Amino acid sequence: MITYVPNYYSRFKCIADKCRHTCCKGWEIDVDEDSLKRYQTHPEIMEKIEDGSYILQGDEERCPFLREDNLCQMIIDHGEDFICNICKDHPRFRNYHEDYIEMGLGLCCEAVCDLVIDNRDTFELVPPKALSDAITAMNERDVDILERFARVSGGLVLAAQESLDMYKDMECLDSSWQKVLARIDIGTNASEFIREQSIEFENIAVYYLYRYPAIPAFAVEASLFIARAAMAIGGDVIASIKAAARMYSSEVEYSDLNMDTIYDVFEEVT
Ligand code: SF4
Repeated sequence: MITYVPNYYSRFKCIADKCRHTCCKGWEIDVDEDSLKRYQTHPEIMEKIEDGSYILQGDEERCPFLREDNLCQMIIDHGEDFICNICKDHPRFRNYHEDYIEMGLGLCCEAVCDLVIDNRDTFELVPPKALSDAITAMNERDVDILERFARVSGGLVLAAQESLDMYKDMECLDSSWQKVLARIDIGTNASEFIREQSIEFENIAVYYLYRYPAIPAFAVEASLFIARAAMAIGGDVIASIKAAARMYSSEVEYSDLNMDTIYDVFEEVT
């Protein structure tokens, strides 16, 4: 079966110990059956696994194989092929269709945020394939970004207060996100901020359109909220957009409960 990937995909590389928000802490890491079988002859590994998952350590819930210098002890001892499937695969995602797969990279990873948000080329698939109408509309750079948002969402966007209330009611995975939510000022108009960084917000919107093609209005909601969160974070503009995008993706996309809320809301308005 053919697999399509975004045009930036081949440039992805995990930055390992340089990563400030490693994915090797803060959530359950399930070990697949084949890897478990491989680990049976390594008691020093098996003693760190319980109920098929790594036993996370300390307040930060670190993977037991994540060293203080943020390198993976298992890779150092046994090589990259030895780690379990979820660790090899993250942060990739796949959408399965009848006779093809669309694969991409999740914005919860800071290396992916750099790759996606800094991308200057319009989104294309490799090998080449026709894009959805919504992504094609979002790729039209001679049209004002907010007009493109309106076309893609069909004009259906949540009011700023309704949007903020929705995120405040969601499951929270990292308390630093709650601090960002508390600083968001819904009276601030994000329009000029988005226009001034139109390529960055086009890239964010296209990421969501590609990953969640059934709910295009969600791509606009995510982009608008990331803009409000970036303004609340402040400081260097591009760094604040990347920080907001990474946190938003981690909190919203990587919680099944929160994605249920998103589908409930946006299947209704799409
Ligand atoms: S979040 Fe991304 S860059 Fe950081 S450790 Fe995980 S895969 Fe690597």
